[in-house]
Amino acid sequence: MDKLVVIGDPISHSRSPEIHHAFAKALGIELNYEKLHVKPEDLETSIENFFTQGGKGMNVTVPHKGGAFAMADIVTPAAKAAKAANTLYLQEGELVADNTDGRGLLQDLTHNLGWTLKAKRILIIGAGGAVRGVLKSLLCANPEQIVVANRTVEKARELAVTFGVDFSALNELDEAFDIVINATSAGLGGERPAVPDCIIGEQTYAYDMVYGAAPTSFMEWALGNGAVQASDGLGMLVEQAAASFEMWYGQRPVTRDVLQAMRESL
Ligand code: NDP
Repeated sequence: MDKLVVIGDPISHSRSPEIHHAFAKALGIELNYEKLHVKPEDLETSIENFFTQGGKGMNVTVPHKGGAFAMADIVTPAAKAAKAANTLYLQEGELVADNTDGRGLLQDLTHNLGWTLKAKRILIIGAGGAVRGVLKSLLCANPEQIVVANRTVEKARELAVTFGVDFSALNELDEAFDIVINATSAGLGGERPAVPDCIIGEQTYAYDMVYGAAPTSFMEWALGNGAVQASDGLGMLVEQAAASFEMWYGQRPVTRDVLQAMRESL
């Protein structure tokens, strides 16, 4: 039976095993996908041992995405842009690093939610690893403009220069956007980033990469300020997993039922 694993530190919260087992069941594939707690000092050995012992595919989460990327022999364009890997596998004995966060977000926004990005003005709040991982995919959707805004404005500036987008400090934002994506970790503590109400207009669609059983505080704030629709990031989680699964098995899982089941289990 194929062996797959997700590594991180911490890792107990990960929902990846459920998602991948559900994909596999629907496609009639037998696999064993486990969580593995890996400390930073054990990263290289863990990756090497897993693949030497016949492991088929690995997902990588915080804080190992950069370290996994650095170990790869081959990096996909998405991983190269992100400078981080969330998906590893072997190709003719060489370690390939991919990053599926951007494809996952794009699939959720455009396919699951049916939002249009082309010719739209997109604001992305945050400038951490998640933003670095999704900017290339967002640019591929041909928006009119992307603005990265971050509490530490220097990090937003750096991403803006790298990806050829615009940047702003949070408190200098002064107009509404078509799509506003919260990619900060503020929501993990039940907070929301300190952004002005004016970024939400009557045409604004709001997305929070964080997800939970109830709408996040960012979603509630956006809807309270007149956003057309607000979504959390559960769909991105399921879609980035589907993109990883596709790299390992060459088959794209159907995500609708899995997303529904995950939503019900939150
Ligand atoms: P990082 O730690 O790399 O970056 C965190 C970002 O959040 C930084 O830009 C930081 O700003 C900002 N931030 C943190 N707290 C606050 C606050 N109180 N107010 C304003 N800004 C704040 O995290 P990641 O980029 O890896 O992840 C960001 C979020 O996206 C996480 O919550 C993560 O769970 C989620 N995520 C969801 C995915 C999904 O599939 N749904 C996939 C990937 C990530 P500063 O630079 O100033 O410190």
